[in-house]
Amino acid sequence: MGVKIGVLALQGDVSEHIEAFQNAVKASGSKAPVQVLPVRGKQDLDLVDALALPGGESTTISRLIERKGLHDPLIDFEGGIFATCAGMVVMASNTDDSRVHTLGRMNMSIKRNAFGRQRESFEADIGISGFDEPFHAVFIRAPVADRVGPGVTVIGSIAEGAVALEEGMNMALSFHPELGNDPRLHIRFLKNCGLL
Ligand code: GLN
Repeated sequence: MGVKIGVLALQGDVSEHIEAFQNAVKASGSKAPVQVLPVRGKQDLDLVDALALPGGESTTISRLIERKGLHDPLIDFEGGIFATCAGMVVMASNTDDSRVHTLGRMNMSIKRNAFGRQRESFEADIGISGFDEPFHAVFIRAPVADRVGPGVTVIGSIAEGAVALEEGMNMALSFHPELGNDPRLHIRFLKNCGLL
């Protein structure tokens, strides 16, 4: 019983996401029993109500998704998906790298590694619609959305493009909220999914 949140565990950045969701549930004050579990295959996916798609290398993550037979199950997954960085690339309708077989769960086009060599990694305080205070965001070889179709709401952007987006219960972020201590985006996602 209780809510189960999965973290796709194919490449890395998994324990950070597990901890961030656990902290977010605690910070929300919810007393509902919540479990956060790694998802390595279809059987695990069937157990969870929402899923995080971590960062890493989107070409590799895409290849592993196909190898594990998860491409179609992820397209059909009925819960919301919380996608960060490489996860955002995988969520899109298309990206500028044909090695990534995108899931098309969000109607947007993604430019990978959008900040070039000089700004490979940086931190910035960005405005998120609905938040009173800026969100301190850590960007690591980050993508941006350079086309956003109907159904997608941009909730945060910087000069290079959109970096935080929502479509239904799905949320895509160019940056890594799991690396900070700010639980607001995790809480917002879980509320959008009706899990908090
Ligand atoms: N540059 C990576 C990619 O496009 C994403 C980097 C990350 O997830 N931190 O796959």
